[in-house]
Amino acid sequence: MEYIKSKPLNLVHVQCCICESDDTEPVGTGKDFEYNSSADTFLAMRCNTCGLVYLNPRPDISGFERIYPANYHAFDFSEKEFGFVYKVRSGLEAKRLLNCCKGLAADARILDVGCGDGFHLRLLRQYGNKSWTLEGIDFDKRAVEMAKKSGLIVHRGSVESIELPQNAYDLAFMIQTIEHLEKPDEVLRSIRKLLKPGGKLIIVTDSTDAFDFRFFKRSYWGGYHFPRHWSLFNQNSLTMLAKKTGFEVASLGTQYSPVNWVYTIHNWLVAKKGPAWLINQFTLKSAFSLSVFTVLDIILQKFRKGALLRAILRKPS
Ligand SMILES: [Zn+2]
Repeated sequence: MEYIKSKPLNLVHVQCCICESDDTEPVGTGKDFEYNSSADTFLAMRCNTCGLVYLNPRPDISGFERIYPANYHAFDFSEKEFGFVYKVRSGLEAKRLLNCCKGLAADARILDVGCGDGFHLRLLRQYGNKSWTLEGIDFDKRAVEMAKKSGLIVHRGSVESIELPQNAYDLAFMIQTIEHLEKPDEVLRSIRKLLKPGGKLIIVTDSTDAFDFRFFKRSYWGGYHFPRHWSLFNQNSLTMLAKKTGFEVASLGTQYSPVNWVYTIHNWLVAKKGPAWLINQFTLKSAFSLSVFTVLDIILQKFRKGALLRAILRKPS
């Protein structure tokens, strides 16, 4: 597969969002193996103080529409597009979401930050308490349009800039969102203000404590999603970010997911110029490879080495 020979993206240098320093060492380098949005090579650096892995330099905001092209999966994760994979993932995600909602009052207010096309909100509306108020936020115009089409309440913009009521929400989700953000610390502080005292924030994100990171971090690790994942956490760095932004860590563990494994193999095949038919066996539409790596990651999860970190943070009462 040939990369699009387009002009390079504008890149900006950044510091660790937790330590606000740049005492780092390189850990990995790679290209946009999934969407070929540019011919650039990107560098993942690891902070020597907190362990955060972050893209540096990274695209500036002017490159947003290029690095999230129209066929980006979070804009239309639907049964029509993804069939069987959609059904299986919906069932699993609904169970996980409802688990997080245990004990919520009938008048609870729930916010999904980085809601994409509204996948998680639709599940909460379908399977959750009908009297809950559900709201989403997303930066991307196309994602917000998709979510609104399903009749959801979605605010467009960043959580720092939209005026929402403070001390009003019982629960907030950031599911595979934090790794995409420009300023994760400012976003967490803003969410803390919106939550009621004792309110919870659930964060799910790729884990650099995972088994596959250790083996594929030099380039092909699926969790990099070069150049869309800007901050990648492990248990230590996520705990440090929570403390920096005024949250208590109620629980921190991992959950299984086949996605990074599938992308890792996909990226390796793309880089080695494998045949297209084989590369196509390793995408988010490949039920077989997703199933195989689900089984593998369920086993790793038993050893607390699942692909994703799952943190429950609490705003102090
Ligand atoms: Zn750091």
